[in-house]
Amino acid sequence: MKAYKFKKLLLKSGWREDMYVVVDAMGNITSISQERPQTTSLFIENIEGAAIPGFMNAHSHAFQYGMAGRAELHNHDIDDDFWTWRESMYACALSHNPEEMRKVALNLYRRLLRNGYTHVAEFHYLHHDRQGKPYSNLAETGQAMIQAAAEAGIKITLIPVFYQQGNFSEQANERQRRFICHTVEDYLRLLESSAAAVKYYDQANLGFSVHSLRAVEPQSIISLFDAVSAQLPFHIHAAEQLKEVADCKRHLKQRPVEWILNNLPVNERFNIVHCTHLDDDEIQRLAASRANAVLCPGTEGNLGDGIFRLREYTAHKGRWSIGTDSHISLNPLEDLRWLDYSQRLTSHKRNTFSDGALHMITQSFFNGKSAMGLAVEDFFSIGKALDAAVYDLTEPHLEQASERHLLSAIIYVSNPQDMRGTLINGNWSQPNY
Ligand SMILES: [Zn+2]
Repeated sequence: MKAYKFKKLLLKSGWREDMYVVVDAMGNITSISQERPQTTSLFIENIEGAAIPGFMNAHSHAFQYGMAGRAELHNHDIDDDFWTWRESMYACALSHNPEEMRKVALNLYRRLLRNGYTHVAEFHYLHHDRQGKPYSNLAETGQAMIQAAAEAGIKITLIPVFYQQGNFSEQANERQRRFICHTVEDYLRLLESSAAAVKYYDQANLGFSVHSLRAVEPQSIISLFDAVSAQLPFHIHAAEQLKEVADCKRHLKQRPVEWILNNLPVNERFNIVHCTHLDDDEIQRLAASRANAVLCPGTEGNLGDGIFRLREYTAHKGRWSIGTDSHISLNPLEDLRWLDYSQRLTSHKRNTFSDGALHMITQSFFNGKSAMGLAVEDFFSIGKALDAAVYDLTEPHLEQASERHLLSAIIYVSNPQDMRGTLINGNWSQPNY
């Protein structure tokens, strides 16, 4: 057992001062109190810091960290957009063997942890070898992600992705050959192997996914839901690009999110990534469905996707969380600020939310947990792991903040350098890199 005394600890009910948090040998919280623990032998670490819950990264393609910052030189004679970027990404996808993928993921996960993320949802579609042949262990590359997470010490939800074809009923192209499961049965075998892979690490669990409506036949998507446990979280990309919306309308006669809402059993286990282009009806219905919109503002900005209609979605009480996606930004504070500032820039108003910092932490934490297939009642609870991002209260902008403004000063002003560190399972993560 050990204990921490936090100068400030964030609970759902607000900041608490001088809080003792005791954890057991597994890193689970056994008590949260302003009373000093009575056990005399207990080591208590005194932290002049403010602890908020560890960030949930609900959307990652780890291999893309291997090309972060390497697709930023543009030729003015040629339009550079999502689709040209995708060609660079395919080249990256074809270049790594499982060991190289593990190394890229390890570097990424260590940096996520350093910046306050404690759990990552790995939306993993690079399944086969470089020739497109399945490995004898179908989850060979997923297992490499699990190994990287275990070595970094971050929690992981492995989400093997069903990717069946190229754009809407077109054959997959050569550069997509590492992604492809031809049938639902092929995908279910991959899911089974992935379920075995997550057992190697006690901080790993499983989700399931379809890459996008363009990548899997509608009937295959529908039948997948008959075959997979209703307990697993489901993830899918949708409505990231205008061309994708137009293609979907041409092939399925509906917009992507509209099709999902009309044809799948949408509920709180659904995590729909991007949702950038929604009409009024989709915004209302998506919010009412209790699905989680996974927003990746750093990547969406980098790729020129567009701006999610967060102001309207929030007015309908829609659920959302964040992800780093292509890893062009690994800073959760930057991504949260992007979300608010993109609304301010388009609305010409500052009040996207009444209390932006609290709203953004609440949404990204609880819905991020749900994206991992987990449920919690509070930011820190007895029986749950002590996972926290801890900010240094001696930093001038935090020292000068009253309790009322402290969370805003963290979210809108701080950077990862202002952290005391990240606690995961009751221990400081040790950045030895
Ligand atoms: Zn993605």
